[in-house]
Amino acid sequence: MAEIRRAFFIGRFQPCHLGHMEVLRKILKEVDELIVGVGSAQESHTIENPFTAGERILMVSRALDELTEEMLKNGEVEKPVKLYIIPLEDIYRNSLWVSHVKSMVPPFSVVYSNNPLVIRLFREAGIEVRSTKLYRRLEYQGTEIRRRMIEGENWKDFVPGCVAEVIEEVGGVERIREIASKDVKDL
Ligand code: NAD
Repeated sequence: MAEIRRAFFIGRFQPCHLGHMEVLRKILKEVDELIVGVGSAQESHTIENPFTAGERILMVSRALDELTEEMLKNGEVEKPVKLYIIPLEDIYRNSLWVSHVKSMVPPFSVVYSNNPLVIRLFREAGIEVRSTKLYRRLEYQGTEIRRRMIEGENWKDFVPGCVAEVIEEVGGVERIREIASKDVKDL
């Protein structure tokens, strides 16, 4: 029996956006199983990390279900890729981080990443890393999408529809605006 190609991809998904989805589309074409690490899992309710790990798991899970359905319909994949979505807390020692990740997720033989630090740490550990091109990086990035939420600009065009629904369900825009607002003045 051929060996299972199981890959690892990590992101903060603050929020999950269309750039992540383009990377995931490519990965799903190349592997049998995929572990998605939801990084900085301990973080939430800040401007850089407004969403909890649980909310981000919901975003990624729904978005991957939709993507899989679309790819099956288009004939881009023959069968669904087995998915594992695992929250991973940061540890504040980069040299030990790969071991930390390996201790928390199923075994994998290849990592997909465009994050320079992640690439460096896995390559130093002797693990194959594949990168993709950056997709519309100026717009498809968490910082820009969070800025749009705070400023009241259009953000929904940059995330899958099901992710926008999760953000609305949890009151995400109100949350990030409140966190970003200045201290309430004494009356
Ligand atoms: P992210 O959500 O910003 O990005 C996830 C991945 O998608 C990255 O590879 C990124 O390059 C790629 N990507 C994003 N937008 C893209 C686009 N438009 N086109 C193509 N690719 C795109 O998450 P991140 O910050 O890269 O996640 C890394 C996680 O690993 C963080 O949670 C970080 O804290 C964690 N980490 C922790 C340690 C430690 O604890 N010591 C060390 C290294 C990394």
